Amino acid sequence: MPDDTSHQPATRAITSGRAHSGRSLAPALWASSVWQSENMTDARRRATGMRSGEFYSRYSNPTVRSFEDAVAELEGAEASLAFASGMGAISSVVLGLCSSGDHIVAQRNLYAATLAFLQGPCARFGIEVTFVDGTEPGAFAAAIRPGRTMMVLAETPSNPCLQLVDMDELGALRGPITVVDSTFATPLGQQPLAHGVHLSLHSATKGIAGHNDATLGVISGERELVDAVWAYSVLHGATPSPFDALNALRGIRTLAVRTNHQSASAQFLGESLQRHPLVTAVHYPGLHTHPQHDLAKRQMRHFGTVFALELAGGVPAVDQFLSKVRLLRVATSLGGPETLVCHPATTTHASLTPEEAAAQGVTPGLLRVSVGLEDPADLLADFQQALAD
Ligand SMILES: *Cc1c(COP(=O)(O)O)cnc(C)c1O
Repeated sequence: MPDDTSHQPATRAITSGRAHSGRSLAPALWASSVWQSENMTDARRRATGMRSGEFYSRYSNPTVRSFEDAVAELEGAEASLAFASGMGAISSVVLGLCSSGDHIVAQRNLYAATLAFLQGPCARFGIEVTFVDGTEPGAFAAAIRPGRTMMVLAETPSNPCLQLVDMDELGALRGPITVVDSTFATPLGQQPLAHGVHLSLHSATKGIAGHNDATLGVISGERELVDAVWAYSVLHGATPSPFDALNALRGIRTLAVRTNHQSASAQFLGESLQRHPLVTAVHYPGLHTHPQHDLAKRQMRHFGTVFALELAGGVPAVDQFLSKVRLLRVATSLGGPETLVCHPATTTHASLTPEEAAAQGVTPGLLRVSVGLEDPADLLADFQQALAD
């Protein structure tokens, strides 16, 4: 339940998700997997109710529920539902709402595991997927097959090149269930539901938890739709750990200050590196050179904590850069306190064919950077020394 919707998001990040922690200011950890009932009637009510609490933790858990309440509050949603990972959220949404014979329209630029899920298991279960260029106006609408397309799946900003999808356009589609993977923006960076999108989805492993100490996914939307996904996910079993939900709820308390600092640093680094002679391109929605900068200004509150850059020298230049960085760490995740750099072509996107990689903008010299909480001047100095011959 919203505590006070007149409050700003940063305030709601502090006030929300407190219903199951008594008088404790810190969230309470309910490690229990099972609760006892009063009698037969009470046991039946808990066993058969929708998302019933205090029955069995695969159905619901008070610590997880607190995390879900806080996310719902930030997303402006009736309800949220957490999963054991971002991929647990994606697979439960797709398998819970789509059936054999259904059709999905998805954007080509997707998190690599999402793409692999749509190409592998979905094909195996007879769910057909059409991939479109999500940056092209009207592309999703043109690919919809009336009566057959059950879902439209988009990711904005997208991994790894920070391309955007116009969420007003997604919200205006009629027929399919629209889903936006909003991980790169965090719930404070944009609100897909305010644009009319049905489900907002996050890998909470990233910016929401924000400290590289939880693996978690979450969806938000109208209660009826979230309940429908729950009815499948309680069987699918990608159930979140209460401990991870606790860490993620703690992360939410500092989400506003972290994302403000990180996106300001990303803007500073992006602008500075754009002028470096060995950098051929910087991809960041906050830069005037980003082809969708105007769209970014329309639909994002901050431009995100991740940017990508391309090095002139391709793979050898990347190899040298990654062996010379001192403050930047070579790792794939994002949204945590440490600044991380990864080379998509040899890691997250290594399984793509050369054609697929080219279509996604995954060039040999592309590096993705998740900006952490260090002083941005120290980060820039590390970039400069690692780029120097
Ligand atoms: C990490 C990520 C996922 C998958 O989340 P996991 O928690 O690793 O399962 C999905 N989408 C995006 C955009 C991601 O960054």
